[in-house]
Amino acid sequence: MKAILVVVGDEILLGQVVDTNAAYLGQAFAAAGLELVAKWTVRDREEEILEALNLAISKADLVIFSGGLGPTSDDLTKPLLTKAMGGHLIRNQETEQAIRAWFKARGREAGSMNLAQADLPDNCTLLHNPLGTAQGMLWLHNGVYIAALPGVPYEFKHLIDEELIPYLKAQGLVQPMVHHTLMVAGLVESSIARKLVLWEAKWRAEGIRLAYLPRPGLVRLRLSLYADSDHRSSSLLVHPERVDTAPRFPKGIQSDLAGMRDRVELAAQEIKDCLEGYVYGENELSLEECIGLILRKKSQRIFFAESCTGGALSARFVRVAGASDYVLGGMVAYANDLKVSALGVSEQLITRYGAVSTEVVGGMAQGAALRYQTDYAVAITGIAGPSGGSLDKPVGLVCFGIHGPEGTFTYRRSLGEGRELIIERAVMTAMFLFWRVLIGQPVAEP
Ligand code: ATP
Repeated sequence: MKAILVVVGDEILLGQVVDTNAAYLGQAFAAAGLELVAKWTVRDREEEILEALNLAISKADLVIFSGGLGPTSDDLTKPLLTKAMGGHLIRNQETEQAIRAWFKARGREAGSMNLAQADLPDNCTLLHNPLGTAQGMLWLHNGVYIAALPGVPYEFKHLIDEELIPYLKAQGLVQPMVHHTLMVAGLVESSIARKLVLWEAKWRAEGIRLAYLPRPGLVRLRLSLYADSDHRSSSLLVHPERVDTAPRFPKGIQSDLAGMRDRVELAAQEIKDCLEGYVYGENELSLEECIGLILRKKSQRIFFAESCTGGALSARFVRVAGASDYVLGGMVAYANDLKVSALGVSEQLITRYGAVSTEVVGGMAQGAALRYQTDYAVAITGIAGPSGGSLDKPVGLVCFGIHGPEGTFTYRRSLGEGRELIIERAVMTAMFLFWRVLIGQPVAEP
């Protein structure tokens, strides 16, 4: 089912309010197997709302309006859509009572403006909104569903999750689908794509789509398989006189879900084989959570010795609930003096190789594990810039040290420019390198 969202409101176009409803709808629909194909924002102008309605009707099976349901003069969506659908606004007694009760529960009396929220179209299905006074509305018009939902984000979200999607599912309009997300670290999108050329050719023919969703230091690979992949591949066409109905998915198709899941699982396993040593988890697991699970299982503890990241690595770990099971603590050893006095790095090593060197970072990791008696220590030292770089040690050079039962591993990486970015990348790189040590596949330095 193809859907178009029309967000109504001058405040969105003026940048006074950030449109979070669109982001939410995109996520909720993707998870449910509905396809949001376009999103438009229009001003609080009758002709512009109607223009959007007419265009959206010609392109989609479902048009969702967000906002403009209130009782004030700039709230045009309700009267406009009611008229366009050939209906009339009439007072709904049940809703009026609910609005009175809603205000009473808050120690207030409903005014006439508030009660006007009970004037509802006589030709729509109401979508119940227990969180506010504006009800959601749903029309079926020439085979296209048209929904009008309140703009207030938590009300919009509630109506999407609890009313609209369940309604569409009950009508058999939601396409059965399977999603599976793999979490990849240590590789950028283009390297992943190169490794998956053959995979893509094979599984695309089977109807499995692969989406690359990058985050700093990570790429999420989302595999999707829809029951009716042929329908999905049809392009977004304009059907000016369409009177057909949205495609329905008979109950029988549900029985194939298990088969679809098996296919996606097999395809995911093949990605794991192609990207061995880079897929660390599934379904939104973070790298710090993944590492935490391993350390907890092995009853091992870690200490962090950080210079240029200033505690950002430790902060990542302690954000995970239960981190005290495996994190002993961390130290920001920014100045060389502290690297010597608190981590036991030898002064000669620093003089000879410089603070940003594999020798010193290895010494930081060893010293930290020894002094604080942990199974592992991860150390970072680097040049986050913008100054402080040199020809052989430019800004962005970061060294990593990992000490543990397997020995000491050290690495050098060039992480680009921009202080914040370098710190973020250093944290992600440290976690990736440490995870590889933990799974017994330490990254080999060239
Ligand atoms: P109400 O009954 O409260 O008037 P409504 O359906 O008329 O609801 P709007 O008046 O358009 O909705 O918006 C209500 C509030 O919700 C706005 O002040 C704005 O802060 C917020 N809002 C509206 N649209 C969005 C959106 N797309 N994303 C995030 N917030 C929004």
